[in-house]
Amino acid sequence: MTNQVTTIRGGLVISAGAGSATVDHLDTRFSADGWITEVGPSLPPVAGENVIDASSMIVMPGLVDSHRHPWQALMRCISTDQTVVEYRSLARGRLAARYRPEDVYAAILLSDLEAINGGVTAVSDLAHIMNSPEHADAAIQAHADSGLRVLFCHGEPNDLEVDAWYHNSSRKHPDDVRRLRNGVLHDDDARVTLGMKVRPPFLVTPEVLRYDFELARELDLHVAMDGGLGGGCWTGARWGDDGLVPIEDIQTIGQLGPHLTLVHCNNLTDSDFALIAETGTHVSISPDHEMLCGHGLPATIRMRHHNLEAALSTDSLVAVSGDMFAAMRSLLTATRGGISDAAYRSGEAVWSWDITSADVFRSATLSSAAACGLGDKIGSLEPGKRADIVLLKSDPLNLTLLNNPIANVVTSAHPGNVDTVIINGEVMKSGGALKFPDVDAVVDAAERSRAHVLAETDLATIKKPHVDNWAMFA
Ligand SMILES: [Zn+2]
Repeated sequence: MTNQVTTIRGGLVISAGAGSATVDHLDTRFSADGWITEVGPSLPPVAGENVIDASSMIVMPGLVDSHRHPWQALMRCISTDQTVVEYRSLARGRLAARYRPEDVYAAILLSDLEAINGGVTAVSDLAHIMNSPEHADAAIQAHADSGLRVLFCHGEPNDLEVDAWYHNSSRKHPDDVRRLRNGVLHDDDARVTLGMKVRPPFLVTPEVLRYDFELARELDLHVAMDGGLGGGCWTGARWGDDGLVPIEDIQTIGQLGPHLTLVHCNNLTDSDFALIAETGTHVSISPDHEMLCGHGLPATIRMRHHNLEAALSTDSLVAVSGDMFAAMRSLLTATRGGISDAAYRSGEAVWSWDITSADVFRSATLSSAAACGLGDKIGSLEPGKRADIVLLKSDPLNLTLLNNPIANVVTSAHPGNVDTVIINGEVMKSGGALKFPDVDAVVDAAERSRAHVLAETDLATIKKPHVDNWAMFA
């Protein structure tokens, strides 16, 4: 068994490699230790090979969520109708402070299984619930147990001490990240790897900004910057006002580059995007969260003017869905909506679209993989990459008649279409059912943890934030 290869035969393969997304009838072969070895038409059989019949399937690389907060799965949708300020006060403050390590474990296992079930094979977990080292250990254990591929971006604790951690904070990144780097997450080739979530320039002192980035460099970690880079309707300030120049601040200390992923970026200036493009820095767009929670329209088109490809993400599970098919749809429609609106207002006609469904597919796979520091390992179906592969049933009512297969997937597919999910060569879902041994027990544990976290929390007060000097958060 150990040397047995697996060949996925007869599928309609959608993938994005060096160029745009492509569609072809191909076989895909991977080794027992989880490497893609061959992709091509009618591959000659290998003695003893395992065969997955994909004759009525779409075969594609697993979707990659380049920015998600899985600890929030217990509190799904509790903040959907809240403002960002209310969200910070309730979810990131009072509720997050009540999470015990076992609650973090329960939430993340639930979130990871939801991801796998929905065709997501890799997630960047921006973990801003590092209330203690035990919370970090519980999060990592859940990721290890779920089978999902994860970049675990170690972050700060909950918001109960928000003044200490955010408002011109002089607190350095929690030192516990060193313990993780030297211990459980030392191996960059493992399925769960370590990164760092750092706070943006306008929320920490210049000394702390420099320290945090240098710590990440010292530990050789990919960095994700979340928490306010969108700007949005909860503040009257705009980038450029009163010295708010976060991208220049990062550039000044020499820390823009491919090791960094900036989240949101809706309202950055053209010169910011020029700097981001010049330095090879990544940008992750979370279209649902950005439109729902007040950042505004995604920056996709302004980024494309600088030849920047957007990575795709979902963001806060307390407000939006973890469904990456939905995120693809939102990215396409929101971007086209922005183009149309701008054209109408300037009296111009639009004769062709500057973003296609193939571009969005690439955002959800290869570009997102790159934004997780994993562009050479996953995100496309090519020999030499890890076997993170998804098979969609192409014959259900919402997908049959594949006139434009990439557009069919981007506009019409949903988690219910996901038949098979393979991560690192391991089959995690087959015939539409998760292989995880006891999903019901995971849901039960999540219910118990949810009850604990909500106990004694007066939800009637959720619209009265206890902190009122919020600035540029999200
Ligand atoms: Zn976020």
